[in-house]
Amino acid sequence: MNIYLTFDYELYFGERTGTAKNCILHPTQLLKEVADKHGVKLVQFVDVGYIIKLEEYKIKHPELEEDYQLITDQIRLLYQEGHDIQLHIHPHWEDSYYSEGKWHIVAKRYKLPDFDNENIERIVSTYKQKLESLTEKETAFAFRAGGWCIQPFEKFREVFIKNKIAIDSSVFKNGKYSSEQYSYDFLSAPDESSWTFNYDPCKIETGPFTEIPIGSIKNSPLFYWKLFLLGRLNPYMHKPFGDGVPITAPGQRKKLLTQYTQNTVSLDGYNAALLDKALREHHNKKELVIIGHPKSLTRFGLNALDQFIAKNKSKHQFTTFQIERSK
Ligand SMILES: [Zn+2]
Repeated sequence: MNIYLTFDYELYFGERTGTAKNCILHPTQLLKEVADKHGVKLVQFVDVGYIIKLEEYKIKHPELEEDYQLITDQIRLLYQEGHDIQLHIHPHWEDSYYSEGKWHIVAKRYKLPDFDNENIERIVSTYKQKLESLTEKETAFAFRAGGWCIQPFEKFREVFIKNKIAIDSSVFKNGKYSSEQYSYDFLSAPDESSWTFNYDPCKIETGPFTEIPIGSIKNSPLFYWKLFLLGRLNPYMHKPFGDGVPITAPGQRKKLLTQYTQNTVSLDGYNAALLDKALREHHNKKELVIIGHPKSLTRFGLNALDQFIAKNKSKHQFTTFQIERSK
């Protein structure tokens, strides 16, 4: 099986975004050390909107210069060492701003389809160009939508073709959520490892795109009780490295604690305890995409990843979109 270790390289988007150091730089460095130890490569889905805002605001706010340098240096280093640098778009950066020493997240337009076609075209093109100006190569051909909001795909289709974005990895089977900001519905996604599509990433069709979905796992409410309790009882192992707070997702916590829910196969926090179970459940698949967020990583998760790679690297291939494309 091909296993992709993918990370959304980003700050938090709630009341406090947290710092570049604790949400991105430090945990990514720790992840890279684990990957280096085993000789495997990671996929970073870089939230380019943040980098563009850093570049814009560092002129008037010199304290942002260091964040900009460290972030862009880390991306360059990751790329030079063979890690995959791909495109992640949180378009709410367009409306967000920096003042009085902090980022103010304005998430009224959280999904790309919340923008008009002209703006969508501009955002996708300029974000891709910015990312590729860091790697100095045309490297960004895979995409993950911010908050998994890849629907309606008609809004992405033309601009993806123009920008040679050919792979999407936003869908996870049976995922469904909607709120003021979010909207996705993957109930009709095929139960396959990957597929080609044309107008709808949940529908197998001949077309210019390939969906390589994120692995999906059904979790019991008991699991989340344990997750929240462990965070309280043993913060050293279970407290995320990131120092911000997430955007509010009304009803989500209550839902997790009271009913079975369908979730991504994830490295975030205690979810990493489920990696072996997820691998068993995907045994008949050709691919397993695992998602993580450096900001949500814990020491527990880092150890779990280390053991997961050690146990599986001889049986499976840890790979990236870039490695597979170059074959
Ligand atoms: Zn994201």
